[in-house]
Amino acid sequence: MVNDKDSQTNSPNSDPASGQPGDGDRRLDGLQMSPDLMLDLARQAAEIVVDRTRRLPEGIAWDGEFREVLAEALMEDPPEQGRPGAEVLERAARDVLPLTLRLDHPRSFAFVPTAPTWPGVLAEFMAAGYNINACTWLVASGPSQLELVVIEWFRRWLGYPEGAGGLFTSGGSAASLDAFVAARQAAGHPERATVYMSDQSHTAFLRAAIIAGIRRECIRRIPTDRHFRLDMNALAESVAEDRAAGYNPVAICANAGTSSTGSVDPLGPMADYCAAEGIWLHVDAAYGGFAVLTEEGKRALAGIERADSIGLDAHKWLFQPYEAGCLLVKDLSTLEKAFGVKCDVLQDTIWGGDHPNFADRGLQLSRSFRALKVWMSIQTFGMAAFRRAVANGLELAARAEDYISASPVLEVVNGASLSIVCFRVNPADAGLDESTLEEINRKVLAQVFWDDTAFMSSTSLRGKFSLRLCIINHNTTWADVRATLEAAERFGTQALDDLTP
Ligand SMILES: *Cc1c(COP(=O)(O)O)cnc(C)c1O
Repeated sequence: MVNDKDSQTNSPNSDPASGQPGDGDRRLDGLQMSPDLMLDLARQAAEIVVDRTRRLPEGIAWDGEFREVLAEALMEDPPEQGRPGAEVLERAARDVLPLTLRLDHPRSFAFVPTAPTWPGVLAEFMAAGYNINACTWLVASGPSQLELVVIEWFRRWLGYPEGAGGLFTSGGSAASLDAFVAARQAAGHPERATVYMSDQSHTAFLRAAIIAGIRRECIRRIPTDRHFRLDMNALAESVAEDRAAGYNPVAICANAGTSSTGSVDPLGPMADYCAAEGIWLHVDAAYGGFAVLTEEGKRALAGIERADSIGLDAHKWLFQPYEAGCLLVKDLSTLEKAFGVKCDVLQDTIWGGDHPNFADRGLQLSRSFRALKVWMSIQTFGMAAFRRAVANGLELAARAEDYISASPVLEVVNGASLSIVCFRVNPADAGLDESTLEEINRKVLAQVFWDDTAFMSSTSLRGKFSLRLCIINHNTTWADVRATLEAAERFGTQALDDLTP
């Protein structure tokens, strides 16, 4: 709780009480705080966050509230006079921050979560405290060099050729937008441009294509095989048809881990095809990319190094706080050709070819210093620990699949692909139709949630309503996964019993 003994005052107009006897500093002055107050608040914020993180595994994975309740609590005019910073922190920690899906809870398996490491969190604080704008070399040479270093790490991990490079972005969505713009530019910015992606590709790609100015009717969604991998023949047919009809293919997107099933498209054959056809290949590795840190993942993603561009999210399987996306391109000049513009007011910022201005590689001018998170957490824990943490997800997903296969109640809908397993309640020989199965599994999903066991999500796989676990939290153990599957079995059995009159 707030310690009031410092008699702090937050109104610059009131009597400026000093923080400590003898220091003579006003604790607030205009928009400034005295160093002792800054430290007090920083310590309080750190204590709140550390305590929240320590208690996370025992607590619920989700909390939320309806809008009218929250509006009642939060909708108000901004105060004319400030109040003690400690109170403001407390209020945020009590009324705002907990009302979320706790994506770093060890039993948070929905969507694609992340569980950031503490050095990554501190890096956000440090970058904000030093007020870094990673826009140009002149403005931020240290941060720019560090971004080059971390991008170089990623390049090596992916087996991407020397000379490849890129930049940090807000996330996979921004990476895909930048990739489409680079691809279109590399294709000569033709009229009637078309792009190709599978029916499993992330909606971020639809949106990015629309923003990039690709007409909706020029976005092709290619069917997938029974393991949800893009069908090469269908792709080749679609491109050939389009070319015959006067369209101009500018990019083909491959998945290196779809968010629905973790499926990996045939990257090698797609790279062969794109090379032969002269079409840009972008690989969406937002979820799956960092699997390359393990031998198993490297095998699964073989061919990724042949793409023209790759999008990765360090705020997923590299355990960083949001936002930490990244785009790498095989030929760096393609990015600078697409995004470099001359700007009079920034004319002093040109240091020459060896001193990149990251603002010339993408959408953003003012940019936060995202590379620092990755760098600080890897410097602190070392690569061995990161490899182990990535492998944890792969191992637990494989083990979950084994458990589901052996269960009399559960059925594997799509086996572990990277770290995602899709399954449902469907006892062998029960002979239940799809709509009954959907009803039962919706119930199971809701009950696992209301029981506070875990937070899962579902997906629809060729019309099959399927439960889904995405296991990429370094803190998740087999006990967490097993408890979740056992709950699904238990609630599934109940739902089946309720069926028979
Ligand atoms: C998360 C995700 C995206 C979108 O990335 P954002 O970081 O949310 O913008 C795209 N593709 C896949 C496979 C993803 O998992």
